[in-house]
Amino acid sequence: MTREIDFSKYSSIKVGSKIQVTILEDDFSDFQKYFILGGANNLLVSDTPPPLAILSDKYNYITYENNILTIGGATPSGKIFSFCKRNNIGGLEFLGKLPGKLGGLIKMNAGMKEYEIFNSLLTVTTHKKTLEKNNIEFGYRYTKIDGVILEATFKIEKEFDLDLLTVFENMRKNQPKDPSAGSVFKNPKGDSAGRLIDGVGLKGFKKGDMAWSDIHANFLVNLGNGNYKDSKYLIKLAKEKVKEKFGIVLEEEIELVESTNSDC
Ligand SMILES: Cc1cc2nc3c(=O)[nH]c(=O)nc-3n(C[C@H](O)[C@H](O)[C@H](O)COP(=O)(O)OP(=O)(O)OC[C@H]3O[C@@H](n4cnc5c(N)ncnc54)[C@H](O)[C@@H]3O)c2cc1C
Repeated sequence: MTREIDFSKYSSIKVGSKIQVTILEDDFSDFQKYFILGGANNLLVSDTPPPLAILSDKYNYITYENNILTIGGATPSGKIFSFCKRNNIGGLEFLGKLPGKLGGLIKMNAGMKEYEIFNSLLTVTTHKKTLEKNNIEFGYRYTKIDGVILEATFKIEKEFDLDLLTVFENMRKNQPKDPSAGSVFKNPKGDSAGRLIDGVGLKGFKKGDMAWSDIHANFLVNLGNGNYKDSKYLIKLAKEKVKEKFGIVLEEEIELVESTNSDC
């Protein structure tokens, strides 16, 4: 089963074209053939990507019993946030300000400062097996999980904290409203990628309709009809200039989804 996704609408950065995507429901035997998509909030999808697949809506669910929250891999963060608020469940309040689906949030260990999805995580179930958190390698915006993430469970030990909503709201104040995929680069230890990009004079710098935001330099924003090629150009330029001036190699947080023989 496939579905056409228009990445100029589906992805948060609004870059890309219409692509046929395979829907995964019960048969995961050839999962390695595919790049697995979540909500495409951390992706730049080229016009010639590798084969893409996405979880079916069967994996869009939440249950709560005996202080254990169980969430399907295709469940959007907004739905998780609303469920937690309604049921007075604490620990995932930051999902009100963090776009993604459960599978993508887990894979990226998404979070805001010290509030990360792994904090209250118990288990992750892939199409192969269930992994205890202790047996998963993870760090800042990084996990090593092999397979398609179908479900995760969380141990809930706190009530929903309304005060945190203001904290997360404030963290978003210096971020652009234009379409983006969030931070392009991970912050190097003890530094900030935004400061470095600003330091090489690229804050606000444009190529076509893509630009390093003049509000926060680590955000690549789409000012209208931005495309993949210009995005890639700006990312490469920032890496080169930062390396040259500061001797620091910036590491991408967003993923560029292109086939290996792409000439973009
Ligand atoms: C405005 C904005 C602000 C943001 N701010 C933050 C922030 O503060 N902190 C932060 O951490 N992130 C932030 N992000 C990035 C993004 O929200 C996270 O990376 C999120 O985890 C992406 O989830 P997704 O479902 O969209 O995943 P996608 O972008 O679709 O995919 C991300 C990765 O997860 C993998 N993946 C997706 N689903 C599955 C699955 N079911 N099984 C296995 N692998 C899977 C993909 O292959 C890919 O490697 C921001 C993005 C935007 C647009």
